Amino acid sequence: MHSPTLVILAGILAALVTTVLYAVWHFNKGIPGLRLWMLSFLSGAVFCASLLVRDYVPEVLAVVLSQVSIAVAAYLCFLGGRAYMGRPPLPHAVAATAIVGVVAAAVYFTVVQPNLAIRFALAGSVSGVCFLLTAHTVARGGVRDVPARYLFSLVAGLHGLFLLLRPLLFRLAMPGSGEEAGADMVVLLSQFVVLEATLSLVLMAFGTLMLTNEHITRELRHLAEMDPLTDVFNRRAFLTLLEKAISSAHRIQSDLSVLAIDLDHFKMVNDTCGHKGGDDVLRHFVGLASGCLRNEDVMGRMGGEEFVIFLPNASRAGTLSVAERLRALVASQPVLTDRGPIHLTVSIGATQYLPGDSSDALLQRADDAMYLAKAHGRNRVEALAIAQPV
Ligand code: GH3
Ligand code: MG
Ligand code: MG
Repeated sequence: MHSPTLVILAGILAALVTTVLYAVWHFNKGIPGLRLWMLSFLSGAVFCASLLVRDYVPEVLAVVLSQVSIAVAAYLCFLGGRAYMGRPPLPHAVAATAIVGVVAAAVYFTVVQPNLAIRFALAGSVSGVCFLLTAHTVARGGVRDVPARYLFSLVAGLHGLFLLLRPLLFRLAMPGSGEEAGADMVVLLSQFVVLEATLSLVLMAFGTLMLTNEHITRELRHLAEMDPLTDVFNRRAFLTLLEKAISSAHRIQSDLSVLAIDLDHFKMVNDTCGHKGGDDVLRHFVGLASGCLRNEDVMGRMGGEEFVIFLPNASRAGTLSVAERLRALVASQPVLTDRGPIHLTVSIGATQYLPGDSSDALLQRADDAMYLAKAHGRNRVEALAIAQPV
């Protein structure tokens, strides 16, 4: 029924991919989904082995082994996709019931009422659905920014569709033609089935490695760009983004505002609550500030207890109202620490981009406004070069 050479090739490929993924997983255990994908390819290798030993073991054993291994391979692939996309783990009862049901049916159609076509359809059913679900899960996370997801979900989706539709292809090949021509067609289709599975296996292996690479790159970029304590942009990444925002504001003549924020008497917080308490206060502030911002606003930590926010397309009134809202919110929400509540305040300097401003000039003006707020008694907002409405 199957071309043994192709099945041997697919089995060797599945085993090789399992080994490679094991090596990658061994050194990067934090990559979500990778272990499940590795086990999925291992199950794929077992499936190939079960096809090869079919003539040497009792038929029912070979059928159970192949049905279980292909269903488990597909289910693990789906679980890997979910883990990779950060979806919560599934209760396995539904899948286990489906797999047991399919295997029981396959045994029935081997022992009680032998029927190869039905067994073939059963083998593709659970796995086809699982591959389609994998494609859906990965694609739903947004494929546009992440090209590796294109490949993975496209291949998983097409493979799932093919698994579900292939009994139909066999049915189409059978009637109408003479018995011999029909048999030829079935052999040809069988070979195509194995070829398609092998190709899908290779492409999904590429996809898995590309997704792994994408995850590592994303993590490295995060480490390079984000402040580890507060998880806002660090100084370097913030400046890069500000440069881009300035050139965009210059090109399309749009508004751009900057807020410089400094926590008041922060040294005292450290002195009373210790450095860890101070760190908690910094995180508390960032949590409050994030709640005041729109999606397009960008916050960075310039060092110590100094933060900067730029607000693209913010009007004069909008800028001042965000600054005032943030100041009032911080003042109204004491930080709860082991040593009692801390009443935190911030001084904020606001300014707007003026044509010809460099990022240095813009930040310096925001800083000057912030020092003005400090000089005027702290816990207040001061503005410099905020355009008067015309
Ligand atoms: P002012 O109202 O004038 O801003 O007074 P201040 O005490 O906030 O300012 P100052 O610059 O004197 O003190 C800043 C303190 O911030 C000193 C330093 O120990 C502390 N600091 C800087 N970075 C960190 C950090 O990452 N964690 C903690 N806990 N403290 C930090
Ligand atoms: Mg301070
Ligand atoms: Mg300071």
